[in-house]
Amino acid sequence: MEEEKGSLSINSQNLFPIIKRWLYSDKDIFIRELVSNAVDAIQKRKHLISLGEAKEADSPWRVDILLDKENKTITVSDNGIGMSADEVRKYINQIAFSGASEFLEKYKDSQEDPIIGHFGLGFYSAFMVSTLVEIETKSYREEEPAVHWSCDGSSTYEMTDGTRKEVGTDIILHVNEDGEKYLDLYEMRTIASKYCSFMAVEIYLDTVDDRLKREEARKKAAEEAAKAPVDADTSDSAKSDADKDKKDEPAKTQVPEEPRPINDTTPLYLKKPSDCTDEEYKQFYSKTFMDFKEPLFWIHLNMDYPYNLKGILYFPKLGSEFTSADGQVKLYCNQVFVADNVKEIIPEFLLLLKGVIDCPDIPLNVSRSYLQNDAKVKKISEYITRKVADKLNDLYKKERDNYEKYWDDIHPFIKYGCLRDEKFYDRVKDSLIYKSLTQDKFITLSEYLEAAKETHDNKVFYSDDPRQQAQYIALLKGQDMDVLEMKTAIDVPFMSMLESKNQGLSFMRVDADLSQYLKNKDSKEVSEEDRKAAEQLFRMLLDNDKLTIHLENMNNDKVSLMLESQEQARRMQDMMKLYGADSFSKDDLEPATLVLNNNNALIRRILDHPDDASNKDLAKELYDLSRLSHEDLSAEDLTAFLDRSQEMLGKLYQ
Ligand code: ADP
Ligand code: MG
Repeated sequence: MEEEKGSLSINSQNLFPIIKRWLYSDKDIFIRELVSNAVDAIQKRKHLISLGEAKEADSPWRVDILLDKENKTITVSDNGIGMSADEVRKYINQIAFSGASEFLEKYKDSQEDPIIGHFGLGFYSAFMVSTLVEIETKSYREEEPAVHWSCDGSSTYEMTDGTRKEVGTDIILHVNEDGEKYLDLYEMRTIASKYCSFMAVEIYLDTVDDRLKREEARKKAAEEAAKAPVDADTSDSAKSDADKDKKDEPAKTQVPEEPRPINDTTPLYLKKPSDCTDEEYKQFYSKTFMDFKEPLFWIHLNMDYPYNLKGILYFPKLGSEFTSADGQVKLYCNQVFVADNVKEIIPEFLLLLKGVIDCPDIPLNVSRSYLQNDAKVKKISEYITRKVADKLNDLYKKERDNYEKYWDDIHPFIKYGCLRDEKFYDRVKDSLIYKSLTQDKFITLSEYLEAAKETHDNKVFYSDDPRQQAQYIALLKGQDMDVLEMKTAIDVPFMSMLESKNQGLSFMRVDADLSQYLKNKDSKEVSEEDRKAAEQLFRMLLDNDKLTIHLENMNNDKVSLMLESQEQARRMQDMMKLYGADSFSKDDLEPATLVLNNNNALIRRILDHPDDASNKDLAKELYDLSRLSHEDLSAEDLTAFLDRSQEMLGKLYQ
C-alpha cells in the first residue's frame, strides 16, 4: 500500500480533544474499552467460523496485555477478526461510527455471543493516557494485507502496510505522563481485574521484562540439558540431590511464573441456578469479594424476559449494627464491569448486600441522569426488590430454623428496607419476626397481639435494654404479658412506621405507662387525698419537689415503687439523639413519674409512720433501686447509693 495520510472524519470540529478529556471521568477505563474490543473481535471471529464464513483459527483464543516499562508502551493483542484497511478507515477513522452496532445489525438474527461495544467511542479512550496510538492488524480475510495505523492525538492519522502475520490485532499505546502508572504490573493487574474479571475470553497480563527472563531461563535450561550427561533421563532417584540443587536453585527463584488468566470466563452467575452447588456459591463469593466469612444465604437472579438480567446477591453477616455494614453490588454489562453500587439500578437498601448483577439491556457509560429517568431501569430495580422479598418469605415459610438463626444479621437490613420502600414492606410484612423476652423464642406481631387481646389490646411492650430492664420484664411476665426485644437503633423509626401502618397499634417500652396494667383491679382506687399526701411526703423525703408521684394499688405487693416514663416523649428524645442533637442532655428528658405501690409493706410503713427518722434513708434507697433498672445513675448518685447501702447494712448487723 502507498502511504496514506488523511483527516479523521469528525462531524463537528474539535470534537476529538473533548472526547479525549471528557468522555470518561475515570482514566482507568481505557483498559476496559481496549480489552472489551479485543474480546468482541474474538467473538466475531468465532461467530464467523461457526457460520462457515471464516477459516478455523490455529491458536487458542486469548487477549494479551503486555507492559513495556523501558519503551513506555502498553500493548493489547487479540487473535480476533482483525481489520482490513477499509475497515480501519470505517471503524477507526470515523469516530463514533460504531462497528459493533453495525455488526449486530448485520448478524442480529444469528448472534449468540454478546457484543460489548455500542457507541463507537471506546477505542478513543486510549488517547486519555497516550501520546501516540498504533494499530497493527490483519483481517481474517486472507487476501487482505496487514495494516499499520497510527495517530498522535491530533486529528490526523497515518496508515501504511502492516507487519502482523497472524490474524488479529495489536493496539499499542505509547503512554503519556498520566499513563505511566499503568506500566506497573501490580497497578495494571488491579485495574484489569476490576474491569475484566468476568470477560468471556481468557486475558493474560505480562511484562516484557518477565517475558525476557523466562526466555533466558528456557534457553539456559536447554543449554544445560544439551550439556548434561546421557544418563540425564534415568529415574529421579539416580540423580544426586546435590547436583539438582546446584543446577535449579538460582534460576528457579528468579524466573517469573508463566502468567495465568486474570479472569473467569464463565462466572457462576451465568449458570442455571439448578446447576450450581452451595460450595460453588460460597467460592464465588469469597473470590469476588475477598471476604472469607461465609455469606448467610444468597439469591440467584435469572431473568430472560422482558429484560435480560443475571446475578447473585449475597446476604453477608452484618452483625447487629447495620451502620457499620458496607456492601458492594457490582454492576456488569455483558460480563464487563460498569460500576459499583449503582443506586439507580440497585435499590438503596440492597446496597448493604454483596453481589454481582449483569444487565446487558443497560448500556455501558450512560449517565446517571439517564438511568434515573429510564423506565426499564426502574422495572429492573423493582424486580430485584421483589426477588429479595420472595427469598425472605420463602426462608420464613420453608426454613424457619435457619431464618431465625440469620435474623440477628438480617433484621436491620430488612427493617431498613421496610422503611425505605413501602412495596418491600408490604411484601415481607408477614415474615417479620420478633424476639419474645418472656418466652425466649421468635414470634410474629400478630401472634403477640392475639395473646395481648385480653390484657393490653393493640399495645406492644418492648425492651431496648433487656439487662437493665430485667425487673420490668419480670413484672410483666408475672402478669402473663409478653415483651419484645427492640434494641437496635433502627427499631425506633421502625416501630413508628409499624404504628403508622397499623391503626391503633402502639409500642411501649417496658417502663412506659406500665402501672395501669399492674393495677389490682379488685381493690378500689386510691383517693386523691391519699395521693396528694404521699406525693408531698415523698417529695420531702427525696429532696425533690419536681417529682410527679402516683400512689396505686398494685397486684404484686413485692414491688415497692417504680419509675414510669412517657413513651412518646422519650421516643422523640431518642430520635433526637439518633439524629445527632449533640447538645442533648439528660436534664432535657421528660422526668419519669414515680409510682408507689400502696400494697407494699415498705411503702405502707413510710406512709403509716410519716415522722419516723429512718424514712429518709429508706425512701432514697428504694428510689435509687428503682432508678437502677430505669436509667444509668451518675457517678455521684451511684456513690451516694453505695455509701448509703453500706451504712444501712452496717446498722442492720451492728
Ligand atoms: P465500539 O466498540 O463501541 O464499536 P470502539 O471505539 O470501541 O467502539 O471501536 C470501534 C470499532 O473498531 C469496533 O466496533 C471494531 O469494529 C473496531 N475495532 C476496535 N478494536 C478492534 C480489535 N481489537 N479488533 C478488531 N476490530 C476492532
Ligand atoms: Mg468498544
